[in-house]
Amino acid sequence: MAKLLAGILALELLINKINKLRNIQKWAPLLLDHGFRDKFGAMDTQLDWSAYDSYGAGDAYAAVPAQGGAYGKAAAVCIGNRQCQRTDKGVMCPSFRVTGDAAHSTQHRAATLKAALNGEYGANPFAGPELTAAMDLCVGCKGCKRECPNGVDMALLRIEALAQRWALRGSAPLRERLLAHLPRFAPWLAPLNGVLRLRERLPLLAELVERGLGIAARRSLPRRAARSFLTKAPQEAIGGPEGREVVLLVDTFSNHFDPETAEAALEILRAGGYRVHLARPPAGGRPLCCGRTFLSQGLISEARAEAQRLVEALWPHVARGLPVIGLEPSCLLMLRDEYYALGLGEKIDRIAKAALLLEEFLAREHDAKRLTLAFQPMADARALVHGHCHQKAFGALKALRKVLGLVPELKVEFIESSCCGMAGAFGLEAEHYEISMRMAELALLPKVREAELGTLLIANGTSCRQQIRDGARRESVHFARVLRAALAA
Ligand code: SF4
Ligand code: SF4
Repeated sequence: MAKLLAGILALELLINKINKLRNIQKWAPLLLDHGFRDKFGAMDTQLDWSAYDSYGAGDAYAAVPAQGGAYGKAAAVCIGNRQCQRTDKGVMCPSFRVTGDAAHSTQHRAATLKAALNGEYGANPFAGPELTAAMDLCVGCKGCKRECPNGVDMALLRIEALAQRWALRGSAPLRERLLAHLPRFAPWLAPLNGVLRLRERLPLLAELVERGLGIAARRSLPRRAARSFLTKAPQEAIGGPEGREVVLLVDTFSNHFDPETAEAALEILRAGGYRVHLARPPAGGRPLCCGRTFLSQGLISEARAEAQRLVEALWPHVARGLPVIGLEPSCLLMLRDEYYALGLGEKIDRIAKAALLLEEFLAREHDAKRLTLAFQPMADARALVHGHCHQKAFGALKALRKVLGLVPELKVEFIESSCCGMAGAFGLEAEHYEISMRMAELALLPKVREAELGTLLIANGTSCRQQIRDGARRESVHFARVLRAALAA
């Protein structure tokens, strides 16, 4: 392990050295492999911001920055009325809620970005301290996109800022690259479970990993399941030929780390009489990935490459009108959201419309009176639900409430919580560990600790479940596992 760490660190030092020698800061913008040059020619963005092209047109009062084109316009959507600096209701903004500091609010982030694009922080603002500090505690929860009256999408603005910073630096730091590449090395992680267990038992080893890689020593790390779901699942469609056809998108986390959830979802769909196609790459090869881990770390080219693979794999199904059902909120909902900003072409609109979380699909089927699932009563059972930020941002909790309501006698309570604080890899990062736990302590962890031991804890997000495990020493599950348990024999 020590040798491996030393090797990785040496490689990182070498890359940095080479980057400096190549004066990459000067040439980085030319190295962007997929730039969207705004029409003023002022800046190459890595995401497609053309959706904001018409913002502020004819409005003399719109404070559109001098540079940045449509990206600047997306920041200018913030009108500065500071509604994001309230803590009375809703989920926005977790970093402001926990610090009470306006410097960690959506408004301040937008204002800093506008100032940066107005040249107030020098020629290379993306490498400067002002923007880095303003964005530091943004967890990408999308609370602002839903709750800000103007719909500021700070999660996306931050990703572009990160990508610009990495371009100036020459590459993303080692830790960010490791976290981003999880889907690539997840298939090979099973033999390392013993090492991960050792890290949790030996504080010195955890400290070494923290110092070397910046992964918080006090965090547990997810364990790879002995067998991935897709390696044992059949290649051909599952279910009778007369069943309504659907596609099940098994994400990296459900596939490699929590195959039980994917099995539960498949069982529910089969019990409902559906004919299930598992999304797989048409030409074989490594499993599909939505690109979320890459995008969150500002590795936009890699995210786009993953997204393109997924779009090509899903298109034959979507073109036939099949719904695409997903389990991990931040993975599935990316198809309805960030895929538009990745510049993936015309297929995106139909793919976005076909993409549904399992709970949304089941609720829709129920409303259309097509759902044939039968559930047995769960007398005396209580379920406590924590919604993933992106479920909240896309209004998907209504569907979850409806579907859990189909189980007779199950008492369901939803926790009034903001972001769990884990937010993908945010809580794993050593410098963010404390703030991540403070976010969780705002509402989620106290409610979980209060819950009786027999209470079913439901959290559909992988990182939310990890936060509950680390913070309250309790196990939670995806709702599919509860629903499967309630299926009538
Ligand atoms: S981010 Fe939204 S809520 Fe906050 S100041 Fe800007 S417009 Fe107002
Ligand atoms: S994405 Fe979440 S953390 Fe970031 S500014 Fe918006 S509400 Fe705040």
